[in-house]
Amino acid sequence: MTSTSSTSSADLFSRAQQVIPSGVNSPVRAFGSVGGTPPFLTSAKGALLQDADGREYVDLVGSWGPMILGHAEERVVEAVREAAGRGLSFGAPQAGEVTLAEEVISRVGPLEQLRLVNSGTEATMSALRLARAATGRDVIVKFAGCYHGHVDALLAEAGSGVATFAMPGSAGVTAATARDTVVLPYGDRDAVTALFAERGGEIAAVITEAAPANMGVVPPQEEDGIGFNRFLSETAHAEGALLISDEVLTGFRASREGYYGVDGEGWAPDLMTFGKVIGGGLPVGAFGGRRDLMGLLAPSGPVYQAGTLSGNPLATAAGLATFAGLDETAYSRLGSTSRALQQLVADALTAAGVPHVVQTAGTLFSVFFREQPVTGYEDAKAQDTEAFTRFFHAMLEAGVYLPPSAFEAWFVSTAHTPEVLDRIASALPGAARAAASA
Ligand code: PMP
Repeated sequence: MTSTSSTSSADLFSRAQQVIPSGVNSPVRAFGSVGGTPPFLTSAKGALLQDADGREYVDLVGSWGPMILGHAEERVVEAVREAAGRGLSFGAPQAGEVTLAEEVISRVGPLEQLRLVNSGTEATMSALRLARAATGRDVIVKFAGCYHGHVDALLAEAGSGVATFAMPGSAGVTAATARDTVVLPYGDRDAVTALFAERGGEIAAVITEAAPANMGVVPPQEEDGIGFNRFLSETAHAEGALLISDEVLTGFRASREGYYGVDGEGWAPDLMTFGKVIGGGLPVGAFGGRRDLMGLLAPSGPVYQAGTLSGNPLATAAGLATFAGLDETAYSRLGSTSRALQQLVADALTAAGVPHVVQTAGTLFSVFFREQPVTGYEDAKAQDTEAFTRFFHAMLEAGVYLPPSAFEAWFVSTAHTPEVLDRIASALPGAARAAASA
């Protein structure tokens, strides 16, 4: 019998486990790697979350990126309410889609056309299909520790939940699909050059996170004044392959123009993928790029791609209202909040003698529980995840909700005011001592 009286997180989790695999609709939410019962949330406002047990937390997850203006931001909520009053879904063109595509394209130089989908996964899946069609080739190159959603071809050595649960990839991916994906160590230019020398004619595309943030934040490095992304675009183009830059996480967070705004000078990816921020908390993804490539999509071209709810009016309203709040002032505030928080965390961990390194990509950052800088997935895996788990639980106990995994970025919003940072600051020393107490 379905009970409606169970309202505590523990009761809800136990009910959930009966009807939803592991009790969750996305793996990291199950707290599987840190243990314990995940709080079931009831509401959120600004930087704060409320759970079913009547507890309040400062949120440093931000729905994994979209809530860049904070939760239930008034103008975003009002825009969605207003759109809802005009109809929830049309399955036909509407103005919001055009304005949202114009907004995204106006911020990111290489984009000429954009198509909206419903998730980051759909965006990367569609970009791969397009790249394969455009080149007539099958092989996709990805980097270990990068996550691009749960696309069959992209789950090998993926970051995010796949890293959190130390999975090599996913069961259920055919051998043929796996054969068409080559995984290289992130940042390893020699490996990229060698692969292209050997198999250049088979490679449709290289896909990379513009700045990896799903194994923790691992910014691309420059060598001889050439950034890794630019190197990838030049190497791919020399062999007739494409570069897909995945900005689902970094897009419009790392900077006003996404991570492309940080390192995109004098080069361009062929295709780019987006999600999270562009939907302001509603389900939206997008992929875009050069007009000649995007023109291959149906109905004018041979590459099929579609969606019943794509370009949904509520989602485009939320995305547009979010973009309206993302002016230069918002980014400078995000930057200063992010820097202040990095400093607070580093100071507390240093004071408690906990080895750590804070890494950044624009306003995005994460904390690794190890001394040496992390340049790739092997480094990220070598951190002290048990110290992180102790730290995580002490922070949660003290009312700060961190990503429940050592392999994730931390997300701040424009609603993280100095008062909110003070609350985090008071939680940190105890959590740092807990991390130290092996
Ligand atoms: N690409 C990147 C870089 C991501 O961070 C994510 C999600 N964290 C995705 C793709 C997949 O997006 P979604 O979860 O919306 O399918």
